[in-house]
Amino acid sequence: MLAANLTSPPDPSAKLISVVAPAYNEEDVLPAFHKRLCAVFDGLDHELEVIYVNDGSSDRTIALLHEMRVQDPRITLIDLSRNFGKEIAMTAGLDHASGDAIVVIDTDLQDPPELIPEMIRLWLAGHDVVYAQRTAREGESWVKRATASAFYQVIQRLSRVKIPQDTGDFRLMSRRAVDALLRLREHHRFMKGLFAWVGFPQIAVPYRRDARFAGNTKWNYWKLWNFAIEGITSFTTVPLKIASYMGLFISLFAFAYAAFIIYKTLMFGDAVQGYPSLMVVVLMLGGIQLASLGIIGEYLGRMFNETKQRPLYLTQAVLPSRHAERRAAGASIPSSAQADCIQAQEA
Ligand code: UDP
Ligand code: MG
Repeated sequence: MLAANLTSPPDPSAKLISVVAPAYNEEDVLPAFHKRLCAVFDGLDHELEVIYVNDGSSDRTIALLHEMRVQDPRITLIDLSRNFGKEIAMTAGLDHASGDAIVVIDTDLQDPPELIPEMIRLWLAGHDVVYAQRTAREGESWVKRATASAFYQVIQRLSRVKIPQDTGDFRLMSRRAVDALLRLREHHRFMKGLFAWVGFPQIAVPYRRDARFAGNTKWNYWKLWNFAIEGITSFTTVPLKIASYMGLFISLFAFAYAAFIIYKTLMFGDAVQGYPSLMVVVLMLGGIQLASLGIIGEYLGRMFNETKQRPLYLTQAVLPSRHAERRAAGASIPSSAQADCIQAQEA
């Protein structure tokens, strides 16, 4: 990791802000995203470092990023060896961020970069984590809103870690919060949960979540369902407990019922009867057993994946920004950094 404190910026209160932006097939939005991000930092005294993580895109994303990096010396480029998914792409970016504060943001412009100055203000006021909380979810169907809300309610009931509602990954984190987060190297990365687990003083900033600027969301209902299972299994073992209690309860009931049947047979004999009730009991027990096995399986599968201890991701290339290279060499950053951005915008 690069040392951020090698430089002495002109303004002693100026900080290095890293922006981590994962990109998967975002050729349509990347230039517009970078332009808006630059415009925001033009109005700030703080130094900027943008870490783009190419998450195995199959379109022109990587070529575009290379071009952008040539034009803007503040761009660091991480090219993952394949598509690892957003949570891992974000982690790769955080691993390489050297800022005093780090902002995680989507590149599809659903997270407005204009919120960053307010986040920085709250961070400087002493909050370690400043997360953006949606007030409106544009371009999302009511089904998605309803399922999202149900998910938050379930996980809130089941888990001891409080995960704030309507909060995505868009947030600013202090150096110490990121360092803490990076110590969690689990493979099943339910980021919302990990962010909350880390703790530290946290505060929300409300914002309107816009619809995607261009391109398509990479989510569908099957992925969202799996995401929900991921969230629940990585943050609570309550489903395992439910399975055990269900088993216990049903066995007690079964014993009582067995006693009753034995008594009845002894007293009154048994004409062959009761086929329907037998079927019902057998099927119900079978179903519950399979469901419980499934729940155990979900946890077991995750344990299996964690025990393999594979690296979280592999990179094809890590190209540090030219500013980062200068900082590492102990040189100062030219104050013309802003001009670079203007050029990048024109391109
Ligand atoms: N993303 C990624 N890898 C993936 C899927 C998405 O890096 O496998 C990035 C994507 O480029 C975008 C962000 O994660 O910057 C959010 O993705 P998307 O818009 O598809 O998710 P949504 O906003 O619908 O939650
Ligand atoms: Mg999006």
